Amino acid sequence: MGHLYPRSKRIKLSLVLKTRNVYKMTDSVLEKIMYVSDRPYSSKELQIMRKKLFRTLRLGNTIIFHRDCQHMYYAKINGRKEREILETNTVSSHCSVCWKLNRTPKKLKQKARNLVDQYLGSGVDSYESLSILYNFYIWLYYEFNDTKHTSTV
Ligand SMILES: [Zn+2]
Repeated sequence: MGHLYPRSKRIKLSLVLKTRNVYKMTDSVLEKIMYVSDRPYSSKELQIMRKKLFRTLRLGNTIIFHRDCQHMYYAKINGRKEREILETNTVSSHCSVCWKLNRTPKKLKQKARNLVDQYLGSGVDSYESLSILYNFYIWLYYEFNDTKHTSTV
């Protein structure tokens, strides 16, 4: 897999949708990546963009909610959590957001918390909220899965 992001770190969200793969990046999405909107998008276009993002990120339609920490997120399609919800209507396993916060390097932890807050606080689809959604799920499912990044704090 190649690198999708140009050095400038200012990209169009539509660029990340040109492929069905999630690319490996040299930097975390928590660092300095800004999405620039080249023009206004209609709600129809935003809807299509959302669908493409879900496909690229391999997200299903199942929403997981953890009462204790109030975190909410879409389960990965065909993942363990999605299967569990569909079969039992409950989730017994730990919250993926809390788990990922634990594995995020200490220097990026506050940025990760901000991203979680932004994601949970974002309302109707807009170019900005979809950019946040994209970054949130890249971080949640595709970054810091390597044990060498594990943080102890
Ligand atoms: Zn949580």
